[in-house]
Amino acid sequence: MNSITPRPVDTVIAAARAFLGERLTLNDAIRQQHGRGEDTTTPTLPDAVAFVDTTEEVSRLLALCHQHGVPVTPFGAGTSLEGHVNPVRGGISLDLSRMAAIEEVSAEDMDGLIQPGVTRQQLNEHLRDQGLFFPVDPGSHCTIGGMCATRASGTNAVRYGTIRENVLGLEVVLADGRVIQTGGRTRKAANGYDLTRLFIGSEGTLGVITRIRLRLYGIPEAMVSAVCQFPDLASAVNTVIATMQLGVPVARIELLDEVQMEACIAYSKLEGMAPTPTLFLEFHGTEAAVGEQAETVQAIATDHGGSGFAWARDAETRNKLWKARHDAYWACLAYRPGKKGIATDVCVPISRLAEALLGAKEDIRASGLDAPIVGHVGDGNFHTVILVTDGDQADLDRAWELDRKIVHRALQLGGTCSGEHGVGLGKREFLEVEHGPEALAVMRSLKQTLDPKGILNPGKIFRN
Ligand SMILES: Cc1cc2nc3c(=O)[nH]c(=O)nc-3n(C[C@H](O)[C@H](O)[C@H](O)COP(=O)(O)OP(=O)(O)OC[C@H]3O[C@@H](n4cnc5c(N)ncnc54)[C@H](O)[C@@H]3O)c2cc1C
Repeated sequence: MNSITPRPVDTVIAAARAFLGERLTLNDAIRQQHGRGEDTTTPTLPDAVAFVDTTEEVSRLLALCHQHGVPVTPFGAGTSLEGHVNPVRGGISLDLSRMAAIEEVSAEDMDGLIQPGVTRQQLNEHLRDQGLFFPVDPGSHCTIGGMCATRASGTNAVRYGTIRENVLGLEVVLADGRVIQTGGRTRKAANGYDLTRLFIGSEGTLGVITRIRLRLYGIPEAMVSAVCQFPDLASAVNTVIATMQLGVPVARIELLDEVQMEACIAYSKLEGMAPTPTLFLEFHGTEAAVGEQAETVQAIATDHGGSGFAWARDAETRNKLWKARHDAYWACLAYRPGKKGIATDVCVPISRLAEALLGAKEDIRASGLDAPIVGHVGDGNFHTVILVTDGDQADLDRAWELDRKIVHRALQLGGTCSGEHGVGLGKREFLEVEHGPEALAVMRSLKQTLDPKGILNPGKIFRN
């Protein structure tokens, strides 16, 4: 009789069943849900999906995968946009969404300790009664572990920074199952290599994040939102540049072009607004400070042809406005039903924003594609959501061509291919141009040191 040698992944599955039980599943529908994120890559089914509950389980599973050379792709909520969670080499999709405990909150030190599956919405709900909030706010229901792994940000980054500035320390399980703690609780530390920031943005390729110590903030005394509409994109962009260069400490300054506004007006039922380029703004501080900041920005906007400056202090109106902004991506999809979005994510120095954004607008016109523009423009970061028919290769090729043009212009202007979404599969081709071969070689050697068998999210960041 022939004896068949089991595949390494089957050996891992059999061994991991002993401690994960039914939480290690081969169910087809669940594997399909883990086949890709919110992107247009061709899905790949993992061999199995593991739903972990504890650091110890992650450690045991990784030790097994390391021993048998089986790929592991960490999975938070699967909202990433560049093919990050597509398990291109099969193996185990490691789902961390059940690790969602808020373990500590310290109002005195304004920090908190959470598991990676917590979403920012859950955290803010939990914090509200204590007068605290966590400001990093991507427009998706993503996990904070996923945010750390992609170095995410949101509308508040212009004032409070990205996730990078708001993580004090991490617990990370390394590829071979060892568990390390990075960082600490202090606001400052000059105590060796900054491992926390090495793992932030590493996209699940260097380790699995199992605990996060976050900075928290007091809810400001006053918050005022404002909307201002412009006759053309250039006037809106120049208002942003002037505001930032003057040093007005805006909490949020977001730009939506006329196409994005048309989509948002229809999707979020925004009354009294016209489909013209628009800035959504917010000011945080004392009553006096927010009034002063809002008046300064209103004066700058008026100088640039802005009109209809509408202020809102009440929570209901402010929430409606920011919900509309956070729903911008879904508004784009509803604008052309049946289509998927490819979101570009360039970021440039603020003085080059007009060139980058107006150039992108020209590229979109020339491409003939629908691509609303929306952006965290205070940081020099904006997205074009290129609407394509999923699976239509010609459409996808045109979209990627447009993406490339927008990225290359941004790079020429001293910018980056990704301000916040990350590299995944989609942005790998730009890394060498952006960092140079030597820096990329250093990144590869870090990967080799921490994951010598290349089991962690293989195929991502580097093209090989
Ligand atoms: C509508 C919409 C709006 C968005 N808006 C924004 C925005 O404003 N700003 C922004 O930055 N992004 C935005 N995104 C992109 C996305 O939400 C972020 O990239 C988010 O951080 C991904 O989190 P996730 O939990 O979904 O991670 P996933 O998509 O599950 O994973 C993302 C990457 O992180 C890795 N990973 C996940 N969890 C861990 C972990 N615990 N340890 C190690 N690696 C891990 C995965 O392997 C993968 O490489 C948006 C996406 C959508 C669909």
